[in-house]
Amino acid sequence: MTDAATPPVPPVELEKTDITPYLAGNTGIRGVTTFDSGVAGPHVAVTAIVHGNELCGPIALDWLFARGVRPVRGKLSLAFVNLDAYDRYDPADPFASRWADEDMNRLWQDETLNGGDTLERRRAKELRPFIDSVDLLLDLHSMQNATAPLYIAGPLTKGRALARAVGTPALVVSDEGHAAGKRMRDYAGFGDPASEKNALLVECGQHWEKASADVALETSLRFLQATGAVAPDAFASELARFPAPAPQSFVEIVAPVTIATDDFRFTDNFLGQEVIASAGTVIAHDGGKPVVTPHDDTVLIMPNRRPGKGLTAVRLGRFVEGA
Ligand SMILES: [Zn+2]
Repeated sequence: MTDAATPPVPPVELEKTDITPYLAGNTGIRGVTTFDSGVAGPHVAVTAIVHGNELCGPIALDWLFARGVRPVRGKLSLAFVNLDAYDRYDPADPFASRWADEDMNRLWQDETLNGGDTLERRRAKELRPFIDSVDLLLDLHSMQNATAPLYIAGPLTKGRALARAVGTPALVVSDEGHAAGKRMRDYAGFGDPASEKNALLVECGQHWEKASADVALETSLRFLQATGAVAPDAFASELARFPAPAPQSFVEIVAPVTIATDDFRFTDNFLGQEVIASAGTVIAHDGGKPVVTPHDDTVLIMPNRRPGKGLTAVRLGRFVEGA
């Protein structure tokens, strides 16, 4: 067994984008800008900084603003979500500003949207009318560990279908979410199989690695094409610098592991996307209780190297054919 203590802070290669020019927006909601084509069509949105220390999202939105990207049908919104957390970002302590008071991506149910008073709940309430109006959402995120980028497509077929339509990144993870609360990507119609609304969360790579900004931009451009917000051949010169999309593979999460005690330790320095051959392999101990793989060829998705009671430690899944 190796010591799986909290790893050192990875290098910070990206710089924080100045988003002050975009804070006023044009919707009456701070940080939210909506462009209306005047032609019938869906309301498509790309959102960044649900987590305040994820720098790739603002870089992609800044690019879209700077290029003057506008929808050819429906509406296009570009939105910065957790402004309080992003304000607190400090490259000397980059993990500290994931949120101000609490995780903004666990608040998207009535109990927390209507109750309590934290900076994140106030902001979620402010944003709710905007999110309620969105038909197709791409929510840009990044991860603790430098593993291949991936979609969190939610539990429904429609989430996987949208990931397939966008085409990159190549890894698509289907899951129910977290015990601690609902994500924005699962809110209301996005999580309702009967609704035509749809959402994707994309984890673009390690929080501060340069490559994550490229993934955020490429995914945003392909998302705007796939949703018809822009012409199918838009952004051709920008997309030419990216390799052709690789075939996608699909992972279905069997069980998220929720941390039960203050003494949770992985048995190895898992980074994510490891495949553990045998069922019953011990991958962690939680208060002395072993956490084991539920089946052969369990794939570990996004192990949390900064564990805390009530948080998700890791998601355990399996590869599924053409899901
Ligand atoms: Zn995030």
